[in-house]
Amino acid sequence: MHKDIATPVRTKEILQKYGFSFKKSLGQNFLIDPNILKNITEHAGLSEDSGAIEIGPGIGALTEHLARASKKVVAFEIDQRLLPILEDTLSPYSNVKVIHQDVLKANIHQIVEEEFKEVNDLMVVANLPYYVTTPIILRLLSEHLPLRGIVVMLQKEVADRISAKPGTKEYGSLSIAIQYYTKAETVMIVPKTVFMPQPNVDSAVIRLTLHDKPIVEVDNEEFFFQVTRASFAQRRKTILNNLTSQLPNGKELKTEILKSLEISNIDPTRRGETLSIEEFAFLSNQLFSIYK
Ligand code: SAM
Repeated sequence: MHKDIATPVRTKEILQKYGFSFKKSLGQNFLIDPNILKNITEHAGLSEDSGAIEIGPGIGALTEHLARASKKVVAFEIDQRLLPILEDTLSPYSNVKVIHQDVLKANIHQIVEEEFKEVNDLMVVANLPYYVTTPIILRLLSEHLPLRGIVVMLQKEVADRISAKPGTKEYGSLSIAIQYYTKAETVMIVPKTVFMPQPNVDSAVIRLTLHDKPIVEVDNEEFFFQVTRASFAQRRKTILNNLTSQLPNGKELKTEILKSLEISNIDPTRRGETLSIEEFAFLSNQLFSIYK
């Protein structure tokens, strides 16, 4: 086996060799602890038959662990300066493809079709750039890619919101959006000291396992998410006030909105944070009949 890229000594050597300087604007905090990388990879449960998609390989620290544990890795990297470095550091691994692209602009469906023909198990595994964690996760899920799950490092505060339960202050439209698609678990809390440079916030690794079948029946996904976002627009307001002020023509449609709440058995004076995903699904289906 080759010497790990992620040891502090080797990372420094690589950065020096290429005169690489970190770009804060691209969320570049590289991992310098091979044990953490091994643990992240283990949480993904990869096998020789698995494919892995990585977002932001950096200098390849996590990529090489994924390459060792899976059949094939495709990694999206936005920073052109990292491409020659990755070509060098990942040269021992023939099963890695690096794509120079912003993952938010990539046609991931097409890439999955082209690159993962021979795998029947696909995971996203990454140490995400923190400035775009939620757009990346939401895009991966809303595109209905053929994934088993997602294992990613992110800000602990975001991990707490993603896995939050109703009635807590962390529970919001993000918790609902992610839990609608997946079972969400925080599997590791990670200290700042394992990054170079160290981020300003605490980090965690979450594992999102896609539901085999939807946990709730939703007539229109986009509208369901619109209703949940509206319900949390002002956390201290009642669900009725948020819906009438946020939904299109909400004020004019107040009587119909009240009726939908009544049919859904939801007291209009409750706050959004007390509603379960099941209640939001039922309510949004009622409201959708007004708006469709
Ligand atoms: N995987 C490496 C590690 O763990 O050491 C680097 C992780 S670093 C937190 C995030 C990486 O994502 C950086 O390499 C950065 O250049 C890249 N990146 C930032 N925005 C991106 C985007 N929109 N699409 C693809 N890669 C991105």
